Amino acid sequence: MPLVPMTAFIEDAKKNKYAVGQFNLNNLEFTQAITEAAAEEKSPVIFGVSEGAMKYMGLDYTVAIAKVAAERAGVPIALHLDHGSSFDVVMKCIRAGFSSVMFDGSHYPYEENIRLTKKVVEAAHAVGVSVEGELGTIGGVEDDLSVDEKDAALAKPEEAIRFWEETKVDYVAIAVGTAHGMYKGEPKIHYDIIEEVAKNIGAPIVLHGGSGVPDEAIKKAISLGVGKINVNTENQVACTQTIRDILNAKPNEIDPRKYLGPAREAIKEVVRGKIRLFGSNNRV
Ligand SMILES: [Zn+2]
Repeated sequence: MPLVPMTAFIEDAKKNKYAVGQFNLNNLEFTQAITEAAAEEKSPVIFGVSEGAMKYMGLDYTVAIAKVAAERAGVPIALHLDHGSSFDVVMKCIRAGFSSVMFDGSHYPYEENIRLTKKVVEAAHAVGVSVEGELGTIGGVEDDLSVDEKDAALAKPEEAIRFWEETKVDYVAIAVGTAHGMYKGEPKIHYDIIEEVAKNIGAPIVLHGGSGVPDEAIKKAISLGVGKINVNTENQVACTQTIRDILNAKPNEIDPRKYLGPAREAIKEVVRGKIRLFGSNNRV
């Protein structure tokens, strides 16, 4: 089927209390792994594409492989810009065929974030593209995006609620204590923020930095109103560790398919596990 906006998932996910996973595309093998896992698990899924990944793969290649994946999968797939940094990049993606975008205005002052996000929502909704906004500053490193721990700021519930009321974004990412990249210890998730915001807005909450968050914490977050969870680092670790092990064991291996194939399988198994954990399996 064709790519769908993320709004296609909202009602069913809410009714059945599950979250849809966003897994980031890094190359063709990631795309295939995520697609196969979603198809086999009969789960909707979101392809996340950061600006860095877009530069690496090329915008036209990205859209082309995502479209082929969606046609093959037989499950609903959204192609979603992750942490879009400007109105221009959002428009470029929509024109190229993305079905969903995130505008991350979290580094702007609050009122400016609202103003800019509103502009994105108006343009995107006019052409049936869903929008995710962000409030509070999520720490850690993701591609070109790097936020020091001291600059990471939790979302204030009353600000997050007004942000949604004014912008009417379809999904709201709020900083609740998770971070991008690898965790040193266990993340301290502020469930009170999730709960307070979720019960006062009409949109699901997005949890960024889902890699390395313990299963129980994920389940609790979903039960309180998280409807989308982003995972990339765990897939990258599975991919790279597999390749490293193979090349260590066989230093003379020169055929990329001999290590990229197993890496693709390893990514697929991580995605399968997350889909089951998020409860989005057997929903299509
Ligand atoms: Zn993120």
